[in-house]
Amino acid sequence: MSCAICNGLDGEIIWNDNTLRVVLLDHPDYKGYCRVELIAHQKEMTDLDEALQFNIMRCVFKVETVLRKIFNPAKINLASLGNKTPHIHWHIIPRFKEDAHFPNSHWGEKLRDGLHQTISAQEKKELITLLNQSLS
Ligand SMILES: [Zn+2]
Repeated sequence: MSCAICNGLDGEIIWNDNTLRVVLLDHPDYKGYCRVELIAHQKEMTDLDEALQFNIMRCVFKVETVLRKIFNPAKINLASLGNKTPHIHWHIIPRFKEDAHFPNSHWGEKLRDGLHQTISAQEKKELITLLNQSLS
């Protein structure tokens, strides 16, 4: 079976332990867009024991906290769909009123040209530093 997350598709792993990893996507419209991925191929959160469920959500909220601190977005979007890739992963997306889709989902109808802001080297360094501090 071919699974995009098991195959380690796009993005850069900026933190991981034995069970989870945080991937920074190099998204042209959404700087700071991260995914928290369970390393094991599991489909639903309710397939996991409570301790692992808790660890995943803890990681998601830590990433959210760090992204808010660095980017001060209008809103954070959290999403777990997995219809196309049924392997547990959470999207953490900083959103801005001027971004290409706001207030729609970033998968929804595009409303404007968007920000075209990629993450700077300084922002990326701060993101990695703060993530390591809060997740260690
Ligand atoms: Zn998988």
